[in-house]
Amino acid sequence: MNGGAAGRTPPSAAVPPATEPPVLLAETPVPGAVPRYEIPGWRDRFGVVAGITARGSGPGPGFDLGLWTRQPVEEVMGRWREFRGAEPGFRAFVMAHQVHGTLVAAHSGPGGWIILEGIDGHVTAEAGTLLLVTVADCIPVYLVAPRARAVALLHAGWRGTAAGILRRGVERLTGLAGANPPDIVIHLGVGICGQCYEVGHEVMEGCGVAHAGPGPWRLDLRARLADEARRLGVERVTTSPWCSAHHRPTFYSHRASGGTDGRMAAYLGMLPAPAAAGR
Ligand SMILES: [Zn+2]
Repeated sequence: MNGGAAGRTPPSAAVPPATEPPVLLAETPVPGAVPRYEIPGWRDRFGVVAGITARGSGPGPGFDLGLWTRQPVEEVMGRWREFRGAEPGFRAFVMAHQVHGTLVAAHSGPGGWIILEGIDGHVTAEAGTLLLVTVADCIPVYLVAPRARAVALLHAGWRGTAAGILRRGVERLTGLAGANPPDIVIHLGVGICGQCYEVGHEVMEGCGVAHAGPGPWRLDLRARLADEARRLGVERVTTSPWCSAHHRPTFYSHRASGGTDGRMAAYLGMLPAPAAAGR
């Protein structure tokens, strides 16, 4: 390493100084009509449903769940109905028009399909509420506090990461559920990988990642988030090896498609107890 006079890392190594190598955990396909992948083991270990929809093998745009696109409303709504029907135990589905900010909304109360404005994270201690964020390169961050029985789901692109969405999510989860960071489990889901995410100075600077030279640089957002999670005291952090751009035949990538791809829905919720799982 040629290092810099200021101790900066050279561009080729311009990734966060991860304190530990990533613990990889690959989402696995879920059988059924809705193309989706699930974080393996979480259903049994934590009693949660946690996953992400995929492109699927259908024609045209595939299983695009983007609500702010030019896709025909009828088709998008049809896919959403299909997705919601695939998890009938949930009485509430909550999501938002995301703005790359740090607001995290807490959810309890009414059921149905709830769409908020200007929110990038969701938290709930209620079983039967499915949290949703839409992504296509940005990282869906899944947080579970298994003993306190609460979950949070965040949408983390570079702007949200730089602004502190992860810290806010951990704070909201610990505040709501009375959990401590070591009680939290985090998974950094399907998103763009460090090789595919070429960025400028403002992104590296914003995310506080060491960089030098003229750029451009490559940012591994998940490594950056994993490093922050550990600094926040979260010890159990896993990272998806799926890259939305590398694996674009399976997923959607805003960047790799030149902005034409659809959106995937990442989802996380606690399963209702069987006796209370009525529709
Ligand atoms: Zn990649």
